[in-house]
Amino acid sequence: RASVGPKYLTGLNPEQRDAVETLDGPVLVLAGAGTGKTRVLTTRIAHILSQGRARPSEILSVTFTNKAAREMKHRLGQMLGQAVEGMPWLGTFHSIGGRILRTHAELAQLKSNFTVLDTDDQVRLLKQLLQADNIDDKRWPARMLAGLIDGWKNRGLTPSQVPAGEAAVFANGKGGKLYASYQERLKILNAADFGDLLLEDIRIFREHPDILRQYQQRFKYILVDEYQDTNVAQYLWLRLLSQAPAKPASPTVIPGRLEEPNPESGDESSARDSGSAPSAHPGMTAVGPTKNICCVGDDDQSIYGWRGAEVDNILRFDHDFPGAKVIRLERNYRSTGHILAAASHLIAHNEGRLGKTLRTEDQDGEKVTVTGSWDSEEEARGIGEEIEQIQRQGEKLNEIAILVRASYQMREFEDRFVTLGLPYRVIGGPRFYERAEIRDALAYLRVINSPADDLAFERIVNVPKRGLGDATVQMLHDHARKRRIPLFEAARAVVETDELKPKARGSLRDVVAQFDRWRAQREVTAHTDLAQIVLDESGYTEMWQKDRSADAAGRLENLKELVRSMEEFENLQGFLEHISLVMDRDSGADEDAVSLMTLHSAKGLEFDNVFLPGWEEGLFPSQRTLDEQGRAGLEEERRLGHVGLTRARRRAKIYFATNRRIHGTWSTTIPSRFLDELPAANVEITESKGGSAWGGTGGYGASRFDDMEAFGSTYSTPGWQRAQANRNKGGSRNGGGGRGGFEEEASNFSSSSSSGPDFGS
Ligand code: ATP
Ligand code: MG
Repeated sequence: RASVGPKYLTGLNPEQRDAVETLDGPVLVLAGAGTGKTRVLTTRIAHILSQGRARPSEILSVTFTNKAAREMKHRLGQMLGQAVEGMPWLGTFHSIGGRILRTHAELAQLKSNFTVLDTDDQVRLLKQLLQADNIDDKRWPARMLAGLIDGWKNRGLTPSQVPAGEAAVFANGKGGKLYASYQERLKILNAADFGDLLLEDIRIFREHPDILRQYQQRFKYILVDEYQDTNVAQYLWLRLLSQAPAKPASPTVIPGRLEEPNPESGDESSARDSGSAPSAHPGMTAVGPTKNICCVGDDDQSIYGWRGAEVDNILRFDHDFPGAKVIRLERNYRSTGHILAAASHLIAHNEGRLGKTLRTEDQDGEKVTVTGSWDSEEEARGIGEEIEQIQRQGEKLNEIAILVRASYQMREFEDRFVTLGLPYRVIGGPRFYERAEIRDALAYLRVINSPADDLAFERIVNVPKRGLGDATVQMLHDHARKRRIPLFEAARAVVETDELKPKARGSLRDVVAQFDRWRAQREVTAHTDLAQIVLDESGYTEMWQKDRSADAAGRLENLKELVRSMEEFENLQGFLEHISLVMDRDSGADEDAVSLMTLHSAKGLEFDNVFLPGWEEGLFPSQRTLDEQGRAGLEEERRLGHVGLTRARRRAKIYFATNRRIHGTWSTTIPSRFLDELPAANVEITESKGGSAWGGTGGYGASRFDDMEAFGSTYSTPGWQRAQANRNKGGSRNGGGGRGGFEEEASNFSSSSSSGPDFGS
C-alpha cells in the first residue's frame, strides 16, 4: 500500500491504517487505552463512505453512549470535509435496538408508540406483581427481582429459557413465573424495559428469518466500539445481524442452531449446561460466512461485568468470527510518559488479563500526584482551588474532569462549584430527568402519548391530590385486571358506574375528560405549548406554587426548564423517546465547564486534566468488592482505576480523605490499596492545598503520609496491613440490591435515586 491516499488516512500509523483499510471480513482491534481504537473506527466509516462501499444508511455502528455517537458523527464530518447527512444506524445498542423494535412492534405484541420503562417504573410494576401473588416484598424485594430479570435479559434468556436452578433463588422458585407475568404485564401496558430493546429484537429475528434477512442485507458494514463491555444479548444480536443473509428461496437456511424455529424450547440453556460448546454462548455455535464486522476494545477496560458484560466476548472473537484478522495497536497518543507508566503499573497487578505493551513518544510530563486531605469537604475545597489555579494559567475548563467512583461523591463538588461560581456539568446520568417534579410532568405526557401507560397514570392520578387515594387506585387495578384493560380505560368505565363515592367519581371523571381533551389538543397544538397547558390545567404547577418548602421554587424552575428542553424535539413522541434513551446529559455543551462524572461514564473520553478523588478502601475499591470472595470484583475495580488514569492527557491527580461521610455517617477511612500499587518513580506526594490536612490529626492519615514520603518499593506498614485485614473481616455484607450509591453509574439501568414520591400511597 502506498502511503499516499485520502487525507483522512494521513497520520495513521501502519497498524491503524491496516485496521481502517481491511474492509472485508471480520476485524478485531484489541489494544490499550488511547491507542486510537475509536479513531480507527471513525476513519473506517469515512473510508467506507468515500470509497463508495456503502451508503450511510447501510452502516451499523454501535457506540457506548449517545454522546459518543454524536461525537463520531461530528468527526466524520471533519474527515470527509462535509456534513454526513444521516447515519441512521449510528448509536447505542439500546437506541438502535429500540428503533428496530418500534418498526416491528406488533411482532412483540406492542404498539409502535410503546413506552420504555426506567428502573423506577420497573420496580413499581414488579411490586404490584409481588403483591398480587402475596409475596412479602420485605423478604423478596422487588428491586432484587428487577436485578435478576435484568441479568437474565442481559444473557439473552426469555422466561422459558431461565435455568430452573436460577429461577429458584427468588421467592421459593417463583422467579421464573414472575418474570413471565412481568413480560405479560409489559405487553398490556404497551411498554418495554431496556433489556427488551435487544431481547425482543433477537426473538423477532429468530422467529422471522425474512425480517432478519432484510437487516442482514441492509447492513453492509458493522462497527462496534468498546466491545469488551458487550453482554451476551448484545453479542447474540450482533451475531445474528453479522451473518451473511440466507437465500430468500429457503428462509430456513440460517446457519447453525439458529435454524431451530422455536427459541422457546428451552434447549439452548440445556445446551450450555451440558457443556457441549463451552466457549460458545447459548444458541450460538461457530457458523458460516460472516460479513464485514469490525470490533474494537481493550480487555483492561472491561468495567461493566457487574451489569452482565462478558469480557470473554472479546477474548473469543476469532473463534466466534472465523477468519478474523486481529490487529494490535501499541502506541498511545493520549497521555504523557508518567501517566501512562502509572496506569500500566497499576493494571499489571491484575492476574486475569492478556497483557499488552503501551508506549508513548510523548514527554514524561508531570508526575501523577497523590494528595491526602482531612475529610471529603477539604478534598473538594482543595480540588476547587487547584482548578481555579489551572484556569488562571489560561487553560479551558472543558479540559478538566473530576471522575468519582460513586455518584454521591458529586454533591460536594457541585456545592463547592456553586460557591466558587465555577461552571460545571454532570455527565453520564439523566440527573435532571430523574427529579421528582420532572418525572411527574413526564408521567402526564406519557399518559397523553400512550393511554395504556399504567405506571405513568398511577403516578399522577392523585398528584396533585384529588381525593383519589389508595382505595380508588386499588379498585381501578382490580377492574383493569379483570377486563385486561389499561387503568385509564378502567377509570373511564368506572366513572359510569356507582362503584365510587360521588366525590371520587366526579374527580376521576374530570381526570379522564382532561386527558381526552389534551389528546385532542395534541393534534393542533405545539408539543411545548401542550406541556405548559397540561402542567397548568392539571393543577400541578399550582401545587408547587402553594408549596412552602424550600425547594419549591427550584422545582418550578425545573419545570420551566423541562418545557424549554422540549423545543429541541419535533414532537412529543420524539421527546419522550429521547428521555427514555438518553444516557448522557449534555445541556450547555458549548459552555466552558468542568465535567463531573463517574469513572464508568468516563470511558472513551479524554481530558488534559483529570482529578480522581476518593481513593479510599471501601469507596474505591468499593466495599462490596472488598466483602466479596475472589478477585474478580477487585480486578474490575482496578481496571476502573486504569480507565480513570488513562483519561488524562497531561495531568492526573489522585486524592484520598481520612474521613468521609457515606450516606450521612462519618467514618474514618484508609487510603486505597491502589495507591500502594502505583510506581514510586512516576508519582509525587503533595500536600493538600485545603489547609489543615495533616496537622496533629493522628489516625491513619498522618502515619500513612509518613510512610508515603518514605516511598520504598512498598510503603505499607505492618500496622496498616493489619488495620486493613481487620476492616475486611469486619466489613458488613450487603444483601441483594444493597450496593449503595455504587450502582448509580453511567446509565439509565442504574437504580435511580429514589427522589420521587412513592406512589400508591
Ligand atoms: P480508549 O481505549 O480510551 O477508548 P482509544 O484507543 O479509543 O482510547 P482514541 O480515543 O481513538 O483512543 O485516541 C486517543 C487520542 O489519540 C485521540 O486524541 C486521538 O485523536 C489521538 N490519536 C489516535 N491516533 C493518532 C495518530 N495516528 N496520530 C495522532 N493522534 C492520534
Ligand atoms: Mg475509544
